Formats: sequence, C-alpha cells, structure tokens
Amino acid sequence: MADILLIEDDVTIRTALSRGLRDLGHAVASSPTALDGLRLAVQDRPDLIVLDLGLPDLDGAELLRMLRAVSKVPVIVATARDGDAEMVPVLDAGADDYVVKPYSAAQLDARIRAVLRRAGDPAPTPLQVGALRVDPRARLAELDGAALDLTPREFDVLHYLAARAGEVVTKRELLTEVWQLPYGGADKTVDVHLSWLRRKLGETASEPRYLHTVRGVGVKLVEPS
Ligand code: CA
Repeated sequence: MADILLIEDDVTIRTALSRGLRDLGHAVASSPTALDGLRLAVQDRPDLIVLDLGLPDLDGAELLRMLRAVSKVPVIVATARDGDAEMVPVLDAGADDYVVKPYSAAQLDARIRAVLRRAGDPAPTPLQVGALRVDPRARLAELDGAALDLTPREFDVLHYLAARAGEVVTKRELLTEVWQLPYGGADKTVDVHLSWLRRKLGETASEPRYLHTVRGVGVKLVEPS
C-alpha cells in the first residue's frame, strides 16, 4: 500500500476519496490548493499524487510542470474534462495516467497500483527495431541516435509494441497489458497516446514508417522497409 497525496479542492470528493483510499489500505494526505499541494509533495515525498486539474489557485497542468521540475513522483490527474485536446498537454507535462470524473476510490486504486507497478518494474534488455532503440532499464527510447521525449505512458506503449515488433497488437491488449485495465477502458485513451507517439516518431497515420494502424484490429510496430 502507498502514501498518497490527494490534491483536490472539492471537499466532498476529497473527503470521500480520502476515506475510500484509506479503506483500501493507503495512507492519504490531502490538500485543497495547488500551492499547498506542491509544498506537501516536496515535504512529505508521497509515493504517488492524485491531482485534480481544476484547482482554484493554479491550473493543474501548470502545477504538474512545477512538480516535474523537482520530482519524478508518479502523478495521476483527475479531470472533469473528457477530451483529447485537454488531456494531451497534461500527459505531455508528465502525468503518468488520468481518470475522468466521476470515478470511484476502487477505480482510482486500480490505476494507482498499475502506475506504481510500472514505476517499480525491474526492466529487461534493450530492444532494437530498425533505427529505433528502446531501453527499458534506462527508460530511454532513441530514433536514429536521438532521444525521444516521451511521457512514461508513451514509453510503456512503445516498449510493449517494440517487444512484439511485426505483430498486430489490439487496443484491448494494450488496455489490459499496458494500462492494466482488464475489464474495460476507452479505445480513445489508446488512440490519444498512439497519435502522440506517432508524432514524436516523426510520422503520420497516412504515411507511417514504424507505427502502422491495422484498421479495425489494432496497431503494429515494424522495421521500415
Ligand atoms: Ca476542482
């Protein structure tokens, strides 16, 4: 079980989630504002932070950038907004995962365990697919010798696909194995990450090199011909 810091201004949600997470065995500290939350994050060094994006004093994405300047602590963002355009900058700013309100303590707990499991995974050997190199131990991906600036989730997706180069991987499989969501989750979540991964690989869906969509089935990573 983990030390969780919950940064959430809504007192009803904060109280209910704190209680729910404690019932599931976590130790929970909480804060109603971004700046107090940042102070607690630095002072208490929690194992994981759950960050509401809509805070009264500071935008959650801005707080995330400030936090990332001083800490690698895993962060799950909680948002009432459900849209790619809003989530992408947040994931880019270094969020490890996100949940869309309303969500239960049990759902959040599943995400927390998945994020912490990934953070703590001992990693095997580097993989090479064409000019793409994925080193899980260093959590570093390089294309043509240049490091790719990936979010933790993008890295996990790329690593999963690179370990299965040439094979079609379904979105369901990615949700189960990378997101650790065996009983569901939105395909759109996968689509957002794949589209940003594609952009960072310098390619487009219409002219793929490494990352090929197999319509109606899934996606595969291949060595470009
Ligand atoms: Ca809020």
